[in-house]
Amino acid sequence: MTHDVIVLGAGLAGLAAARDLAAGGADVIVLEARDRVGGRVEQTELPDGRLVQLGGEVAGRAHTAYLALAAELGLTLVPSYVAEPGAIARATPEGISAGEPPHWFGPGDDTSHLKVTAAFTALARTVDPDDPWSHPDATALDRLSVGDWLRSHGATPAVVRLWEIGQLALAGGSYERTSLLAALRKNAAVPGGEQSGHYDYEDWEGLRVAEGSATVALRMAAGLGDRIRLGAPVQAIAVRPGGCTVRLVGGESLSVGAVVSALPVGPLRSVTVTGVSDERLASLHRQRQAVAAKFVATYDKPFWRSRDLNGLSECEGVLGSTWPQNEGILSALVPPERYGVLLGMPAHMRETELLSDIARLYGDEAHRPLASHVRMWGTDPWTQGYVTQWTPGDVTAVGPLHGTHEPPFYVCGSDQWVAGYMEGAVRTGRAAAGEALRRG
Ligand SMILES: Cc1cc2nc3c(=O)[nH]c(=O)nc-3n(C[C@H](O)[C@H](O)[C@H](O)COP(=O)(O)OP(=O)(O)OC[C@H]3O[C@@H](n4cnc5c(N)ncnc54)[C@H](O)[C@@H]3O)c2cc1C
Repeated sequence: MTHDVIVLGAGLAGLAAARDLAAGGADVIVLEARDRVGGRVEQTELPDGRLVQLGGEVAGRAHTAYLALAAELGLTLVPSYVAEPGAIARATPEGISAGEPPHWFGPGDDTSHLKVTAAFTALARTVDPDDPWSHPDATALDRLSVGDWLRSHGATPAVVRLWEIGQLALAGGSYERTSLLAALRKNAAVPGGEQSGHYDYEDWEGLRVAEGSATVALRMAAGLGDRIRLGAPVQAIAVRPGGCTVRLVGGESLSVGAVVSALPVGPLRSVTVTGVSDERLASLHRQRQAVAAKFVATYDKPFWRSRDLNGLSECEGVLGSTWPQNEGILSALVPPERYGVLLGMPAHMRETELLSDIARLYGDEAHRPLASHVRMWGTDPWTQGYVTQWTPGDVTAVGPLHGTHEPPFYVCGSDQWVAGYMEGAVRTGRAAAGEALRRG
């Protein structure tokens, strides 16, 4: 069978690309390995009707492509956990504190924190997020870890710890192993980021789709109908100017004019790609991901409020963070540095272990959820990660081919944007479709 375009992967990127391609008049099909659409956005429903997000969940005011798509799909954006009353909690082995400053701060730490935050945001303004390689000090900034940069700017150990606990709360890789250039690029990608500091929750996480984050994918899929083939893992892609071939696991071959790969960088490494330049493939295969797990515990009510806490926390336990996803539903992330702890224990013990972390923050009621879900995204064969990870040297090694196309082979997906996120998926998916349509 022949089509104009085959889109690989029915995550947000692939679906957004296919939707625009179909709207532009292309004969498009989407091949998806799993038996569901959505990829890293996935939801389930509780018996009482509440939806539970097991993957990507919140967006920010800076996520313009995602917000525009949600509006086109007739979905409603509401404030996320940022609207929850109460204070943030921080838990470390030696103590727990609510609000600011964290319990390990002492004299001078606040001043140090303000100083390095100002220096970081000022430096970020010198980086072009679309072309960080053009920075005159790109190589040096890329070689340096955020942790080393903080210390070299006089950050106190307490401040370095605050930045690190915040980074692991997002389930990014440790700041001791994160490229400064990559962190600056992420900050620079937010318009007005210089006013809002190092990582502003409103910019990145202040909103959520009221109908459920995974509903964004489901709505797009409904519009695409039988153009989506589920249970269709791709094994090989042969790219040729006159027409490409896509081979599925199982041997079926499909002919097509152009291919849009919306696969995460991990699973893509197992797909044989020919007819694409060695440079582009080397760049794609050089990218890595931070692995993470998501834990969600659902309760009949948000019991943390009785302690004047908002459910948002940053932790040095197995969990890196918690936040309220919806009324009575608590989300949590296990960062890459602690993922092995979960992997190394019998699966039936994971819930108890993670609930203990939550109970330490919010009390014994945490041990009695209505339901809970552990989602091991880092070792899911069709994801092999969570968000893109940039270790020192990676921005330079992946290079300016990051996010670029070699028509008729187009590449999109959150890994192809500065810092992952649902925004990266939608933005790159729509851009790839636009480029493919433009070239006919
Ligand atoms: C736990 C978790 C929490 C997150 N929280 C947030 C958040 O709050 N806010 C936010 O903005 N972002 C968040 N993210 C990130 C965001 O969800 C992702 O960046 C985004 O959804 C990725 O979309 P994508 O289309 O690029 O990739 P994916 O969603 O991974 O889609 C890729 C698709 O390709 C398919 N596939 C893989 N291999 C093959 C193959 N060989 N053949 C065919 N199909 C294949 C996969 O099954 C998948 O459906 C989170 C992610 C996770 C995992």
